Amino acid sequence: MRAAFAAVARDRAGLAADLRARGEQAHAQIVEIGALIAADPALLDPALAAIRTGADAVMAVTRAADAQAAVLAALPDADLAQRAGDVRQVAAAVVAELRGAAAGGPGQFGTAAGGPGQFSTAAGGPGPFGTAAGGPGPFGAATAPPPEGPFILVRQEVDPAELIRLAGAGSGSAVLAGAVSVGGGASSHAAIVARGLGLPMLAGADPRVLEAPAGHPAILDAVAGELIVDPAEPEPAAVMVSEALASPLADGIVRTADGEQVTVLCNVASAAEAKLGLSGGAGGVGLLRTEIPFTGAARWPTESEHLAQLVPILTGLGGKSAIVRLLDFSGDKVPPFLAGAGRPYGLAALLGAPDALGSQLRAILRAGRGGPVAVLVPMVTSADEVTQVRKQLAEVAGAAGIDPPELGIMVEVAATAAQAEAFGSLVDFFSIGTNDLACDILGIDRADPGAEPALAADPRVLALIEHVVRAGSEAGIKVSVCGDAAADPHVLPLLLGLGVRTISVGAARVPRVAQWIAATRIRGQDVP
Ligand code: PEP
Ligand code: MG
Repeated sequence: MRAAFAAVARDRAGLAADLRARGEQAHAQIVEIGALIAADPALLDPALAAIRTGADAVMAVTRAADAQAAVLAALPDADLAQRAGDVRQVAAAVVAELRGAAAGGPGQFGTAAGGPGQFSTAAGGPGPFGTAAGGPGPFGAATAPPPEGPFILVRQEVDPAELIRLAGAGSGSAVLAGAVSVGGGASSHAAIVARGLGLPMLAGADPRVLEAPAGHPAILDAVAGELIVDPAEPEPAAVMVSEALASPLADGIVRTADGEQVTVLCNVASAAEAKLGLSGGAGGVGLLRTEIPFTGAARWPTESEHLAQLVPILTGLGGKSAIVRLLDFSGDKVPPFLAGAGRPYGLAALLGAPDALGSQLRAILRAGRGGPVAVLVPMVTSADEVTQVRKQLAEVAGAAGIDPPELGIMVEVAATAAQAEAFGSLVDFFSIGTNDLACDILGIDRADPGAEPALAADPRVLALIEHVVRAGSEAGIKVSVCGDAAADPHVLPLLLGLGVRTISVGAARVPRVAQWIAATRIRGQDVP
């Protein structure tokens, strides 16, 4: 990593010197900026920290660049804000350097060993995480997608922040058509974000997919679970299947076939998803995953970094409500600065850093001025955690001269669901996170390819969801489901049957889910 950064710095400094010697001062200055960025520990250090914790090298550089670019892009000075692009370019050069080094190794990249091949999702457990093979995939580099046409991103482990960035890049004719990940499964956050963006994605793919030749035509059939490289039948290299479904939602509300009102909100981590969700008829944002842009962070995000992420999302809602979740640095979202055996992560880490919590709460209140905003605490396991957040929220709101917003908790830990009644009087709402809850109840690793939204149909999970719904209703507070089970056609009717009347689903899924609800009879039919 150090060598790759040093090579880029040297290269750019050399080029700048040549340009100066030729009298091209303006160009030299531009290139020198790249040399300075490549030599600056602000980019190198977080990338090094990430690989020390086992992260893939390309992902480490990309995430470090994303985090730094986000800070720069948020600066009021337009010149400085433009440096965000320079940071990404330097990162792209470092990635190219890393790939060049990797290609020299025995057969890691560039060998079209399999020739035309077909890869289906691995049934036999998760692929390896963060192994040496975890380099860039052949269908699009981490920071520099192919200049022409649609492309399929192939990675050892797809980074959700990278997906959001590539999907929103929208420049030139390069279009992210889909993604393939060797690691993870349907409940990994990359898969969740892909669903939210409406992108086809395979997770838990055969590791041989990383050896597939770059730049060849390929068909990604996410329904069949196949990536077909160099298909025998000449077909377009990629077909974007986009659904333009009529949404039966009016102001975020749809009626079931037997007349029950159900509210549909959307889950987002970016402004693009929020726009997509609202255009599909969502009544607002039911879950804003604030941690996704910061999973590569080298330290706690500052208030202005939070604002840079929150403002574009919340201002695009046109006054519709948003439930903003506090940083959930847990599971597959633990950033380098919290990684390491025995160190607190997730909610414990956030509560252990009151300044970081204060920064995020202030940013939420500032960014949320244009519409109703509520604060959601992830992975809650004790009343004390709620009390701590409520206290600090009251202080921050008091300092800003406003009333504190509503405060709710994610019910996504089995023990919390089992004693939901103990939390009912402490909060304004419950949001049931079936992704973590189902895995916790059933003892399944969330990263396992077998971990999928439909697991929530297990009677053990449904029994606890019913318990939470009843506890919420007895406490007179709102209950919603924001886990991906709410967008599963088999689990959704069961949730409605248990009394759930508000759901929040991946943004691209909103119209389809609303159609399913409209076709559902909650009370069933009389048996003749
Ligand atoms: C969940 O666990 O169901 C949830 C919505 O949170 P996340 O998927 O972000 O862990
Ligand atoms: Mg969760």
